[in-house]
Amino acid sequence: MTVPASPFWSPAIRGLHAYVPGEQPQGEGWIKLNTNESPYPPSPRALAAIRAAADERLRLYPDPQSLALRQTVASRFGLEAAQVFVGNGSDEVLALAFMALLRHQRPVLFPDITYSFYPVYANLYGAAFEQVPLDPQFAVRVADYERPNGGILLPNPNAPTGVALPLADIRALLRAHPTSVVVIDEAYVDFGAESAAALVPEFPNLLVVQTLSKSRALAGLRVGFALGQAALIEALTVVKDSFNSYPLDRLAQAGAQAALADEAHFEHTRQQTIASREWLAAALAARGFACLPSCANFLFVAHPDHPAAGLMQALRERRILVRHFRQPRIDNHLRITIGTQAECERLVAAIDEVLA
Ligand SMILES: *Cc1c(COP(=O)(O)O)cnc(C)c1O
Repeated sequence: MTVPASPFWSPAIRGLHAYVPGEQPQGEGWIKLNTNESPYPPSPRALAAIRAAADERLRLYPDPQSLALRQTVASRFGLEAAQVFVGNGSDEVLALAFMALLRHQRPVLFPDITYSFYPVYANLYGAAFEQVPLDPQFAVRVADYERPNGGILLPNPNAPTGVALPLADIRALLRAHPTSVVVIDEAYVDFGAESAAALVPEFPNLLVVQTLSKSRALAGLRVGFALGQAALIEALTVVKDSFNSYPLDRLAQAGAQAALADEAHFEHTRQQTIASREWLAAALAARGFACLPSCANFLFVAHPDHPAAGLMQALRERRILVRHFRQPRIDNHLRITIGTQAECERLVAAIDEVLA
């Protein structure tokens, strides 16, 4: 049931269209390949740290600056804590970035096919924006961003395509737009793209955003972070402190820190995901799917003879969830999250049934 707008609502929110997250099914037995979560459990060390933090200290507010966590993130990237911002998921970090850094006279630019939260934030904060079409191969062409702008926002790899931009292109973009903030959303970078984090000391206009939701298997903990020079981080902090002093609770701060310290678990699970992605891409290609080259934990695929909406429905009937976007240019594509190898194999078996 949708509740209609009421006169009690603030005028500015009456026309808003909120982001619609992928389905979280109730009940057992689903293979969830629709929201890019990790199919593997989080680091056991993160779970132990969360349990250890769940004690009587919960009566106290958490550290509003999340300093210990920011230091852990900073040392991982060779930066200072003043160059790190943490938030309640990278969605929150991106929302604060729209408010703090991307709301100018000129429009913020982002691709026409990208994370569908970006236009939602832009509308929420009243930020002017322009969508720049991906090229016919669904890649970002940095030269297409040569137009007046009040900031540039790119996911790398892009979602839902999985296509990555080489670091040289990001460097060129930063050089070509020295007076614009360039935000690189690296939600999927650990699955095979090159991070722009190393460019932070060189470019005062660069903000890199990452999350623990995908490659660290902690979507339920809600931790994301941004890396940038102190002036950009300070803008995010001012907005955060004008909104919520404590976006990260004690459990999230403790769990995130322990997760970031568990290099072996991170490396093992991400390599498993990459291996299954390559296996699944080959299996789907052998069945006639066109499959974009993915550097993420998902594949973006289309079949010339089987429309995506019908395929999604047929898989749903077999209790396998994948994501379909009713949007121009991509409404015949499916975005399929890489599950465990066994889940990928069950998906392929289901597809064989459907195509038969
Ligand atoms: C998943 C995702 C995020 C946000 O993840 P959080 O869970 O809020 O950290 C951000 N950007 C893109 C492109 C994503 O796919």
